Amino acid sequence: MSKRDYYDILGVAKNASAEEIKKAYRKLAIKYHPDKNPDDKSAEDKFKEAAEAYEVLSSPEKKQRYDQFGHAGVGGAAGGGYGGGGMNMEDIFSQFGDIFGGGGGSPFDSFFGGGQSRGGGGRRVAKGSNLRIKVKLTLEEIANGAEKKIKVNKQVSCKTCDGTGAKDKSSVSTCKTCGGSGAVRRVTNTILGQMQTTATCPTCHGSGQQITAKCNVCHGDGTVRGEETISINIPAGVSEGMQLSMAGKGNAAPNGGIPGDLIILIEETPHETLKREGNNVVYDLHVSIPEAALGASVEVPTIDGKAKIKIEPGTQSGKLLRLKGKGIPEVNSYHRGDQIIHVNIWTPKALSSEERSLLEKLKESPNFKPQPSKNDKSFFDKMKEYFE
Ligand SMILES: [Zn+2]
Ligand SMILES: [Zn+2]
Repeated sequence: MSKRDYYDILGVAKNASAEEIKKAYRKLAIKYHPDKNPDDKSAEDKFKEAAEAYEVLSSPEKKQRYDQFGHAGVGGAAGGGYGGGGMNMEDIFSQFGDIFGGGGGSPFDSFFGGGQSRGGGGRRVAKGSNLRIKVKLTLEEIANGAEKKIKVNKQVSCKTCDGTGAKDKSSVSTCKTCGGSGAVRRVTNTILGQMQTTATCPTCHGSGQQITAKCNVCHGDGTVRGEETISINIPAGVSEGMQLSMAGKGNAAPNGGIPGDLIILIEETPHETLKREGNNVVYDLHVSIPEAALGASVEVPTIDGKAKIKIEPGTQSGKLLRLKGKGIPEVNSYHRGDQIIHVNIWTPKALSSEERSLLEKLKESPNFKPQPSKNDKSFFDKMKEYFE
């Protein structure tokens, strides 16, 4: 049999939008889903055919090659059946994540096996739960990247039984409820009507095996509470609320399944004197009236240590100075923000009689009368200039 046209399979026009293609496929996937059509070979073929068509037409690159060269352009030899280069059930089920969304409570969860990896034959591999931890970082650590060794309390694989939960090899046998398939069929009511669905076997929880004698240490779970020191590489430039994920570093799964992920939530410890503003770092500098009038060299903190900066004679309060490249790097980029120094002129709060009489004299001097120019930029203009 020669291959049918992918557009014909999905029943869409050649100029159909990505959304129309997705919609058409979703309809066919539900109609021909094997859980809804048990032991129906032609439904299964249609299901696979639709999945293959969708796989090509949903990828702009593959779609373009298909439009130009037909089946030959996308790897499948013209005239070939589905046995060779076609998709297997596992590929098809893994595609459903973006078709139906992974959210809980969806009516599809019941037959698309929400939350568990779905093998072709119905056998499920248990997945350990994800573990969430918070990691506090200083501004210096954020700027330079950090390697954190963190002790986490979690479910770890039981060493005594090697995670199997069984006392020894002879105490593992095929599950009697499901005959080793890990799945049982059930009729459920969904918004799509009554449907035969596949559910994880309640006896063996999908492993297909039954344990006759349990491990003394983990009591058959295959996991025990334990501690692990995990080394976490945090790239430079992360920010408060960002989440990093390390695959397989979460809780161990019962009965030797796949461990969950470790989700790392970033928290910033506020710096004593520097404030982060995106990838820039802002510092509020206070100089005295004489320093501002005469000019000065002052020391300012930066994330790389102290730096000396020059205050020009006649510096106005509110002036913004920039230390280029002294800010925070962007994640996965060579670009680095700046340090911006906001100059404030410190007005004394208490005066001796001598200081007072000096200032009284200066007050009458014409140079001490404010003379703002129309060309002076407003605070907002300056902020805009520095943060854009
Ligand atoms: Zn054990
Ligand atoms: Zn079973």
